Amino acid sequence: MKNIAILGSTGSIGTQTLEVVREHPDELKVSALAAGSNKDLLKKQIEEFKPTLVSLADEGKALELKNELKGSGVEVLSGMDGLKAVAACPEADIVVTAVVGMMGILPTMEAIRAGKDIALANKETLVTAGHLIIPMAREYGVSILPVDSEHSAIFQSLQGNRHKDLDTILLTASGGPFRGYSRRQLEGVTLEDALRHPNWTMGHKITIDSSTMVNKGLEVMEARWLFDVDYDQIHVVVQPQSVIHSMVQYVDGAIIAQLGTPDMKVPIEYALFYPERRSLQGERLDFAALKQITFEEPDYEVFRGLALAIEAGRTGGSMPTVFNAANEKAVALFLNRKIGYMDIVSLIEKCMDSHSLTAHPDLETILAVEQEVYRQIDSMMN
Ligand code: NDP
Ligand code: MG
Repeated sequence: MKNIAILGSTGSIGTQTLEVVREHPDELKVSALAAGSNKDLLKKQIEEFKPTLVSLADEGKALELKNELKGSGVEVLSGMDGLKAVAACPEADIVVTAVVGMMGILPTMEAIRAGKDIALANKETLVTAGHLIIPMAREYGVSILPVDSEHSAIFQSLQGNRHKDLDTILLTASGGPFRGYSRRQLEGVTLEDALRHPNWTMGHKITIDSSTMVNKGLEVMEARWLFDVDYDQIHVVVQPQSVIHSMVQYVDGAIIAQLGTPDMKVPIEYALFYPERRSLQGERLDFAALKQITFEEPDYEVFRGLALAIEAGRTGGSMPTVFNAANEKAVALFLNRKIGYMDIVSLIEKCMDSHSLTAHPDLETILAVEQEVYRQIDSMMN
């Protein structure tokens, strides 16, 4: 029996993780769950999966839940301390990090310190603190197993090969809903347009990130840390059908890819059972019906967020934090209809341009830079 803790259990990845658990009740057990404010769904999850520890970020809702669960034996915590406690839950063997954004850094570190393996969906943590997280995981002897579909595909394509034989990572991208748009067409994009992804149903933040291709930029940085490669070794390839989830090219020119229908339960299950596989219900790829798989170069001029992400990654130090924090803040403003679509990337660029770089930021510096970027954007808004 494998015991799991889920950070962000009520979200897109969190609920799909629980669907995987539901398919394997004899092998997976939920020890602890954490969410933000969706008390009603968390309560249903508690009834079905019977964790011993839960947490809600929202203090008021956590208190209500605590009263409602009185006598049940379920411990209810709140806030960042609660999230960290779920991450370090003594019974858990593996922690699924499925919260959004840099707030994943502290609980991920807490889980590593407690010796838990990490099934990592929360890419913003590696983007901003990969230089701290990866050595820390090594020090504590824990595995970081990718959940992001592209990184899972790369990870699967690396199995049985030597790292030194790897030549290039071919990171695939759907291109999002605005593939083929000109800059002028992008200027007319509304929130509703941006929330419509052609192939995947995901949380709001990553759906917007996919539309700007900032998500692909974050994934380039994520790949750099997960697979210990240089930026020159990562190439983005647009593959609009989202059938090839990514590929690895070796020194002899051989390319190994992982394919399948777009279903996040595949990479989630692979991370939970690695190195084994388990059966999974779901649609299978029908090549005859699909007919073709096509490829394109990304348009780095129209999708400037992708170019800026790669620039931030190559610059390194505190720059990926600036890129990521500016994007988090800008996307939140866009979701609240406070800024236009094009402002997302222009805010990122302004913050990157005015940043004075710290070459080797420690945790404190990363969190301080995050706050500084938020303040900078706030002041630009007034
Ligand atoms: P969602 O927005 O769907 O879910 C976010 C989860 O985090 C919810 O459970 C939410 O709870 C919880 N949460 C929010 N604030 C807090 C807080 N302060 N403390 C604890 N929990 C909190 O996001 P996704 O599932 O789409 O994405 C999660 C991560 O996975 C992201 O980093 C994303 O980039 C990555 N990812 C997602 C993919 C997808 O298909 N969705 C694919 C690949 C990567 P509540 O609902 O109660 O507010
Ligand atoms: Mg992805």
